[in-house]
Amino acid sequence: MDDKIKIGVSSCLLGEKVRWNGDHKQNLFVRDVLGNYFEYISICPEMEIGMGVPRETVALYGSLENPKMISKKRRIDWTEEMKRFSKEKIKFLAEQNLSGYIFKSKSPSCGIGRIPVYSVDEPGKARHGSGMFSSEFMQAFPLVPVEDEGRLYDQRLKENFIVKVFSFYRLKKSLLNKNSKLKNLVEFHTQHKFLILAHSRTHYQALGRIVAESKKNPWDKVLTDYIFLFMEAFSYKSTNKKNIDVLLHMMGFFKKLIPTVDKKDILDSIEDYRKELVPLIVPITLIRHYVKKYDVTYLKDQLYLSPHPKELMLRNHF
Ligand code: SF4
Repeated sequence: MDDKIKIGVSSCLLGEKVRWNGDHKQNLFVRDVLGNYFEYISICPEMEIGMGVPRETVALYGSLENPKMISKKRRIDWTEEMKRFSKEKIKFLAEQNLSGYIFKSKSPSCGIGRIPVYSVDEPGKARHGSGMFSSEFMQAFPLVPVEDEGRLYDQRLKENFIVKVFSFYRLKKSLLNKNSKLKNLVEFHTQHKFLILAHSRTHYQALGRIVAESKKNPWDKVLTDYIFLFMEAFSYKSTNKKNIDVLLHMMGFFKKLIPTVDKKDILDSIEDYRKELVPLIVPITLIRHYVKKYDVTYLKDQLYLSPHPKELMLRNHF
């Protein structure tokens, strides 16, 4: 990686004392581990609209589509300030070229889901939606990967989000520049083959059709269709079964090159992974080793074998 990847983040997750009670919600994985690769743009919507610290807590009321943000005790209406702030901030963020956003969970400003929006007519009743700022962000940047920090405690969800961020970053570097050509698209698609397959075979096939038929369509349309579908593929979680299919498929590329005893080693490790006796990183490391040893050209550049820095230790799950 040449530069750090730009990511938006709720300020309290970095340890800034901006919460309603003057405290923070520091997440060490976000700040210290991901911080080695991500350049954070820290945003606290409630501080930026002048609520101050300490402050009265707020909640959302009314409709899911157009909720009002009102303080719980003194009933101060912050809706217009939050709307104005969101609009301005989104203009600023559009120039920042973000590759992701990590939002604080359970916040009426930052939460991306399961935020209560209380009924005005039936006190105590609530439906659930997104926070006011996060909801504007997701509408303005539908392709940018977002995650709720609470979900980063789940190993699979954490890996899925980080794969999405790194993939989006690579996609923008390779394809979203004025010099991009069909050659770049073919190369990008080839290198991501197994990574996409580990998430959605249907999307891999549809993306292949876009590339194959690209000469029949205007370049802008080809790129737009490809980018949308590529990012959509990662909304499908990779599973034990999908990973096994990919690993066996990869083996097909070099099974004639390696001795039977080594082949058996790899197959045994895939089987152990299938039985959840070893994490995914074990068969991947073995395959990576043989790809390097026997110089298997097609597999050498496959992003599936290293979609993110190994120091993140993300494939240590079953
Ligand atoms: Fe500020 Fe959002 Fe954190 Fe609340 S959740 S303290 S609004 S950054």
